[in-house]
Amino acid sequence: MGVPGNPAPAELAATELFAVDAYRTEFDASVAEVDREGNRVRLSRTAFYPVGGGQPWDLGTLQTPAGTLTVTEVRRQRGPIWHTVEGELPSVGDEVEGSIDWARRHRLMRTHTALHILCGVIWADYKIPVTGGNMEPMKGRLDFPFPAMSADLGAAVEKRINDEIARAHEIVVDFLPRTVADTDPALIRTSANLIPQEIDPLRVIDIVGLDRQADGGTHVLSTAEVGAVRVVGTESKGKDNKRIRLEVVDPEGDSTHE
Ligand SMILES: [Zn+2]
Repeated sequence: MGVPGNPAPAELAATELFAVDAYRTEFDASVAEVDREGNRVRLSRTAFYPVGGGQPWDLGTLQTPAGTLTVTEVRRQRGPIWHTVEGELPSVGDEVEGSIDWARRHRLMRTHTALHILCGVIWADYKIPVTGGNMEPMKGRLDFPFPAMSADLGAAVEKRINDEIARAHEIVVDFLPRTVADTDPALIRTSANLIPQEIDPLRVIDIVGLDRQADGGTHVLSTAEVGAVRVVGTESKGKDNKRIRLEVVDPEGDSTHE
């Protein structure tokens, strides 16, 4: 482990396991609430990431005393996280063992991190902030208010991203007090100061030396772990809105250097 970030609030660390350890794939918990109409359960703690910030929810299973439930959807609803399941619902107080689909989650972590590298590169080279985006496992897109876009932008950006991957920047999950976060130029640039003040400390993903953003998602520990990136499209979505699409590929299967 490298430089540790400021620790997470104890309550968050104890209940939202993905927020402090993106590599945790199994956990035990007790059933806190059951919504029979919605086929949903709320747990005392979870490693399942709820959809948010452009990152899809995790899939996986919950082992209950009555059998195995398949988790098909995970969403936060005004605070609590609900797991929509297929199978016989457990009762409040039952002990369950959760297991997330790690192959899929790790692909999302690599993809989410690749998108942050893209943000960092576009800011460093063009001083243009990101305005939106989305991802699925191994592919994603971000929008930037470029006034114009040169034909070779995609190739240039792809090379820059892969160079930053090769530099193996460390990635730290930090929890910054708002008094510190709200004066951080990188966080102001990404509008973190507009997040409600009750959210204190602010969870920050720091790709050390490249990009810092307030973020709830899951990321890998080093840019090297992303593998390789291919820019597969650059599109104009209007006068001041340009979209960059990328794919994450395994270094062995990388065809960008052919
Ligand atoms: Zn993010």
